[in-house]
Amino acid sequence: MAPLAHPAGLTLHPFAARIGPAMKLYNTLTRQKEEFKPIESGKVGIYTCGPTVYAYAHIGNFRSYVFSDIMRRAFEYLGYEVKQVMNVTDVGHLTTDRDSGTDKLELGAAREGKTPQEIARFYEQAYFADAARLNILRPSIVCRATEHIQDMIALIERIETNGFAYSTGVGLIFDTGKYHDYARLGKLNLEEQQAGARVDIDPQRHAPSDFALWITNQPNHLMQWDSPWGRGFPGWHIECSAMSLRYLGERFDVHTGGIDHIPVHHTNERAQNFAATGKESVSYWVHGAFLVLGDTRMGKSEGNLITISELENQGFEPAAFRHLCLTALYRTPLNFTGESIKSAQNSLHGLLDFGRNALDWPESGDDSWLTPYRNEFRSTIADDLNTPQALAVVWNLIREGNKRQARSAWKTILDFDRVLGLGLEELVSTTSEVPDQVRKLAAQREQARTEKDWGEADRLRDRIAELDYTVEDTPKGPRLKPQP
Ligand code: AMP
Ligand code: ZN
Repeated sequence: MAPLAHPAGLTLHPFAARIGPAMKLYNTLTRQKEEFKPIESGKVGIYTCGPTVYAYAHIGNFRSYVFSDIMRRAFEYLGYEVKQVMNVTDVGHLTTDRDSGTDKLELGAAREGKTPQEIARFYEQAYFADAARLNILRPSIVCRATEHIQDMIALIERIETNGFAYSTGVGLIFDTGKYHDYARLGKLNLEEQQAGARVDIDPQRHAPSDFALWITNQPNHLMQWDSPWGRGFPGWHIECSAMSLRYLGERFDVHTGGIDHIPVHHTNERAQNFAATGKESVSYWVHGAFLVLGDTRMGKSEGNLITISELENQGFEPAAFRHLCLTALYRTPLNFTGESIKSAQNSLHGLLDFGRNALDWPESGDDSWLTPYRNEFRSTIADDLNTPQALAVVWNLIREGNKRQARSAWKTILDFDRVLGLGLEELVSTTSEVPDQVRKLAAQREQARTEKDWGEADRLRDRIAELDYTVEDTPKGPRLKPQP
């Protein structure tokens, strides 16, 4: 096969352009695993519902973002060119899904005596710092709601012109009764909703499922913009419609988020997109199941959350949490317990031990025995991102690699890590034999630094030095090295 010409004059290996095997994804809209068919050959557009930046993201949130990151990496591994767009919600997300309660950003501002914008920027930065520690790749486009108000207004105007909206004292309301297929994504029973309807939010609404596109008459709301419907602010759902259509076009491939988004947020986004464009805009709706603590979902409102820094303070690397996420299929619930994170950490350390051993082995001549493992890994990951099965392939490969003492087995696992994203290559070179005690001190120092307790941070650095280690601060967090 002749090498392919690259527009920049590079020569690509013939297999570099190979796509496959075909990706299969479970589509919430059809409740079926379907073969992925891109809108544009060789390309995939993914929209990921991003964080509401009013507090630290918890590891439940991060389970969702690890899932969308695995999806993006899997598509890239299979040869697709990926454009992933993620929003940052910095206005309009109220404390309930039903247009009532307080804007979460304003809640954060009141809690910390800051402006909503200060809160938004602080927690956005904290989100990306934690995401980097989990090796979550930065999406190709990150877009803030407050910077797309004009896009939202323009989209709402189209929805209104097409006859899908009416006004009440609350603002401009989407008329869900006008969309024949409204109930499908969430398998909603609209008659039941109507029977149990509460009218206290807005007695002028035609149906309980109707929702606000633009909210007015809220003089205490700090963030307000002029609009054709009066001064006010957008409903939460319109931001994702406006930004996904703007950056990915009126038809795009995949939309991701957590399962809690199915009945309201995504149902409403889909309705808005149809009302504005007349099209089914998203080909595959794909949802991640919850991280569960005890017997409830981990969540801010449930008051049972754990952050990445807290995990680190307990001596767990972020990669151990990422490994835990990989042990379950993204669409089954995952229990977080002391045991489950410890066992994930042990498995991670087992992988690293293999890597350290393998680096001392010679390069072998004939690597053809690796081909079945490579093929199985590809087809496993293409089968609706089956990460638990992909880990099983890794461990089978380790067993065989140990027998053969083959260094190439480790190189193959590093290639698989382009999808798994555990950062194995870096971890092998940076965490070699660091005692748990030193790791814990480094995590406590990180916490002290986050709290700007510089005295405590210095004291901890000295204690680490007494144990013959130095800490180097890098954008991905502290790195520990034995003193020369
Ligand atoms: P939020 O910042 O509240 O908008 O949530 C960000 C993302 O985290 C959304 O996609 C949610 O569906 C998801 N999420 C929230 N809680 C959990 C959980 N316990 N497990 C998995 N995903 C979650
Ligand atoms: Zn969204």
